Amino acid sequence: MTNQIHSLDRRRLLQAGAALVAAPFVLRAGGAFATVDPFPLGVAAGDPLPDGFVIWTRLATEPLAVDGRGGMTAPVEVRWEVAADDAFAHIVQRGRAMAQPQWAHSVHVEVSGLAPGRPYWYRFSALGAQSRVGRAATAPRHNAPLAQLKLAVASCSNYEIGYFAAYRHMAEESPDLVLFLGDYIYETTRTGPRAASMVRHHEREAPLSDLPSYRNRYALHKMDADLQALHAAAPALMTWDDHEVSNDYAGRWPTELETSEADFLRRRAGAYQAFYEHMPLRRRSIPHGPDMRVYDRLRFGQLAEFSVLDGRQYRPMQPCPTPTSRRGHVVTDAACPERTDPARSLLGRPQESWLYDGFRRADARWNIVAQDLMVATANQRDLLTGVQGHYTDGWDGYAATRDRMLAALQTARTPNPVFLSGDIHSFWVNDLKADFANPASATVATEFVGTSITSDGPLYELFMAGMASNPHVKFFDSRQRGYLSITVTPEHMTTRLQAISDRRDPHATVATLKTFVVEFGRAGAVEA
Ligand code: FE
Ligand code: CA
Repeated sequence: MTNQIHSLDRRRLLQAGAALVAAPFVLRAGGAFATVDPFPLGVAAGDPLPDGFVIWTRLATEPLAVDGRGGMTAPVEVRWEVAADDAFAHIVQRGRAMAQPQWAHSVHVEVSGLAPGRPYWYRFSALGAQSRVGRAATAPRHNAPLAQLKLAVASCSNYEIGYFAAYRHMAEESPDLVLFLGDYIYETTRTGPRAASMVRHHEREAPLSDLPSYRNRYALHKMDADLQALHAAAPALMTWDDHEVSNDYAGRWPTELETSEADFLRRRAGAYQAFYEHMPLRRRSIPHGPDMRVYDRLRFGQLAEFSVLDGRQYRPMQPCPTPTSRRGHVVTDAACPERTDPARSLLGRPQESWLYDGFRRADARWNIVAQDLMVATANQRDLLTGVQGHYTDGWDGYAATRDRMLAALQTARTPNPVFLSGDIHSFWVNDLKADFANPASATVATEFVGTSITSDGPLYELFMAGMASNPHVKFFDSRQRGYLSITVTPEHMTTRLQAISDRRDPHATVATLKTFVVEFGRAGAVEA
C-alpha cells in the first residue's frame, strides 16, 4: 500500500517536472489529457575514446509500469545531437536511433568522429519533447600528454536508507570521469525491524526476480534528481557487484541452495539485460542470455589507463559454503583450504589473461584497476559466529587469484598500479603487498576503497579490534558515507575521502575526511 501511494506521488511529481523542464507533448489517455515527459530517466554518457563516447537515454512515459515497459509499446524514433557548446549553437553531429520495445526503449548511440580531449554536450528528442542536456568529453589522443584528470568514484547506493546527496556533490565537482564500482541498486527491500532505517521506498517490496522487476528498480534510481545530475555532468565507467543481481552470488550460483542453476541463470539474464538497458554501454556489452561483457580497458593519453573488471560473472562457487547457504562468511584456514586453492579464479581465466596482458603492455604513467571488491586481505572476526579468519565473498575468498594478479604486476613492472574498489561500505587505504604475511615484503600496488553512497557500514569497533593483524591497512573508517574524489597528475595521485554529513538528509553537506597522496614511482599512499 505504501508503495502504491509513493508511486502515485511520483507520477504527480513527474508530471509537474515535465511541465517545468521539458517541452511537453499531450497524450490522450483514457479520454483525459495528461502531460507526459518521455525522458524522466535522464541521460548518460560513457566509455570515452579519443574520437567519441556512448550516449544513453531510455524513453518511458510511465517509468514504473509493473510490466516493465515504461508505458511504451511501439518502436519510437529518437533524434540525438552532439554540440561543441552547451547552448547547442555549434552542433557537430546529429542522427536518429530507434528505441525498441525489446530493449525497454533504451537508446545507446556510439558517437564517433569527434575531436580528442575536449568536452561536448548532447541531448535527445522524441515524441515532441526534448531531454535534458548531458556533458561528455572525449579522451585525449593515445599518447597525448595530459596535465590532470579528475575522477569521482562511487559504490553501494541503497535507495531506501538514504538520499543521494553524495551523487550531487560528485556532480558539483565536475569530474572528467565517474566510476561506478557496483551495487548501483539493491535487489531486496527492507521489511520488519530493518524497515525502521528507511527514508524512502522502493517501487515494490518483493525481491527482484525477472526482467520487468529489475528494469523498474533501475528506473526508480534513474528518476533520482541527484543521480541524474551526476550522469549528466560527466561520462561514466561502469561495472557491477552482486546486488545488481542477488546478494553474494558467484557466477552461476546464488546463495540459496534451493534455487536451481537454470532458474538462477534466467534471473541473471533479466538482471544483466536491465543493467545494459540503463547504462551508457557499447554494443559489445549487449547481453546474450545470461552472459554480458562489462570488463574493459580505457586510456586517457599518456597519463592514465583504466582496467575495469567484472568480479562476479565468471567466478566459481563461493568457497566452503555452510550447510544452509552459500553466503560470504568468515572462515579459518584450517576449516577452508579451498579459499586459497590455485585452481579457483575470481575473474575467470580469460579475464585474468586479458588483465595480465594489459599489465605487460601498460605504458601509461598511472595504471588504474577499477573493480568491485576490496583486494587487500583483511583478517577479521565474524559477527555472527565469532570465527577469526578471512571473508569468503571477496578477493580473500579467491586468494590465489590475488596472488597471481599481484605477481603479474611485479613481473611486468607495470608503472604505478592503483586499485579502486567498492563493496565493503567503508573507506580503506591499503598497501597491496607481495606477501601480506610479511609486512617487510614489497608494496606492489596502492588500493583505495570508497565507502558507500548510502549503504550501512560494517561495525567500526569490530574491524578496528583486528587492525593490528592488518599492518598493510593505512586507514580505515566505516562510519562515513560518501565517495572518493581523485586528482591524477603526471607526478601525483591525490585521493580525497569525501564524507557526507548525513545520509538521511537530502541536503547533506560534504567534507574531506582525509587526503592521501601516491607519488609517481612509489607504491603506497601517504597521508597529506
Ligand atoms: Fe554494497
Ligand atoms: Ca556487494
